[in-house]
Amino acid sequence: MGEHREDPASAARIVIPEGSRPADGRFGSGPSKVRPEAVEALARAASGYLGTSHRRAGVRAMVGRLRTGLRELFALPDDYEVVLGNGGSSMLWDALVFSFIRRKSQHLVFGEFSAKFAAAAALATHLDPPEVIESEPGTHPWARATPDIDVYALTQNETSTGVAMAVERPGGDGLVVVDATSAAGAAPIDPGEFDLYYFAPQKAFAADGGLWLALCSPRALERIEEIGDSTRYVPPSLDLLGALESSRDEQTYNTPALATLFLTVHTVEWILASGGLAWAVERSARSAHILYTWADKSEYALPFVADPADRSPTVATIDLDPATPADDVCAALRANGIVDTESYRKLGRNQLRIALYPAIDPADVERLTRAIDFVVDALAPGG
Ligand SMILES: *Cc1c(COP(=O)(O)O)cnc(C)c1O
Repeated sequence: MGEHREDPASAARIVIPEGSRPADGRFGSGPSKVRPEAVEALARAASGYLGTSHRRAGVRAMVGRLRTGLRELFALPDDYEVVLGNGGSSMLWDALVFSFIRRKSQHLVFGEFSAKFAAAAALATHLDPPEVIESEPGTHPWARATPDIDVYALTQNETSTGVAMAVERPGGDGLVVVDATSAAGAAPIDPGEFDLYYFAPQKAFAADGGLWLALCSPRALERIEEIGDSTRYVPPSLDLLGALESSRDEQTYNTPALATLFLTVHTVEWILASGGLAWAVERSARSAHILYTWADKSEYALPFVADPADRSPTVATIDLDPATPADDVCAALRANGIVDTESYRKLGRNQLRIALYPAIDPADVERLTRAIDFVVDALAPGG
């Protein structure tokens, strides 16, 4: 047991050889690696863009490019719309509670993020208590068609546990709302299977936080109008009808982060120019294959998610043997410029969590596996 325990201070003295170091050491699940090309493009565009009015053509054109780019990326049918607003996915949960759930929602809960949306719905006094279907961390439950449910809340990728699930309509009349915050742009999706597919750009879209983006089906648009036109009290900043009207006008309700907007558009257009969503999906899948294959072969590492079909293509969770403290491994990696490989705190496991978003080069994931092997070897007694 204890003989392997190096303190983090000595772990930090390990020097990973050049050949085993990723060219870019950012493996965080969010905020995630922002491509240097995007930052350079922002710097070049800055003097005519940053610090200019979001009610004028320059910024509105950027909102327009974002809406058009996402429509193309996700091959949205003509009657779907892209809606955006400020505050990230967490703020959208509150907006959905006020502006979208008619009476009762059903939530699949299998980690911290899916639990938070269910908790937000449970707090609302204007709604019936939500139906919660839960499963153990490392697995996912399935939705159940139920007559009185008007919103099914699914999560395509539970970022806290590294479990991904297929997005499929459960049947029944309820609208399907999908938290795709850490999946959108890197996982396949059929627009026919959802009514509202939402995300924030600091994950697979390699931008910064602060925005929410929602792809809405005609039924979702109808629901937004139905509740927006009703007598229900809705705080103006959480009003999806207002957000829809602003989006159609290439604006947001209040001032957006212009840099975030720019970086998001840059990634969307980069993916489109590289081959579209299928290309991005393949790139993340390649990284995932490298990482899970390495973990399967490793003597001290094992994918946390037992069923290979549930393993996330964008956020990999890798358990370590108890003799190999993940804290020490992460400390040594961090000291070498390889950051944010720590597991989700509240999961409380001896685990690494590694993002595999399209902006991350699969060659860097390969180098990361060598860096981890080197560190674990160096931490072992006599290493
Ligand atoms: C990161 C994340 C969120 C929260 O996103 P914010 O933009 O920080 O509010 C919600 N759901 C999932 C699945 C996430 O990964």
